[in-house]
Amino acid sequence: MTMLNIVLFGPPGAGKGTQAGKLIDKYNLVHLSTGDVFRFNIKEETELGKLAKSYMDRGDLVPDEVTIKMLESEVNRRPDAKGFIFDGFPRTIPQAEALERFLDSKGASISLMLALDVSEDELTKRLLLRGKDSGREDDQNENVVRNRINVYNDQTSLVASFYTKQNKFDSVDGIGDIDAIFNQICEIVNKY
Ligand code: AMP
Repeated sequence: MTMLNIVLFGPPGAGKGTQAGKLIDKYNLVHLSTGDVFRFNIKEETELGKLAKSYMDRGDLVPDEVTIKMLESEVNRRPDAKGFIFDGFPRTIPQAEALERFLDSKGASISLMLALDVSEDELTKRLLLRGKDSGREDDQNENVVRNRINVYNDQTSLVASFYTKQNKFDSVDGIGDIDAIFNQICEIVNKY
């Protein structure tokens, strides 16, 4: 059986989590958000949580080695999955390379990377609003929000070219009605 493995891509605040939630329902996939796993570990005060927290509080990336190991063990916990929505991973080229090797070792691969395009002004607005609603600490401090967008521009945006080279990249406008954006995403997914 071929899996449907989708990387949902875009800067913080682009709407990855929202669209991931809709995709897993429609296509019966497993949602794997590295940010959610880190936040769960922080709440549970695990060693991983303690380590990740210092980076997340600043809006920096958790080191690749730690993140990759965690991601792989999350995938391994779901051997029956028909596919995954990777949300917030990979965020660096070494993470993309590690994911490719790891999936390859299981006879699987990434089907497609789907990016949500949103302007920086809109992102800052959305994140600060989310900070008020959700209480997420890294959304409440304007300096941390700006750092996360800078980290995305410096380290993460490059990952798009990794999948472009493999003809696996597509993008949609991430501003507008949530369901309209979802419909555009589905049109792309259905082509695969
Ligand atoms: P997110 O919920 O995806 O916005 O992630 C929140 C924070 O978790 C990020 O600002 C990073 O500190 C950390 N994080 C999440 N995913 C990754 C990743 N793939 N690599 C490194 N750090 C990550």
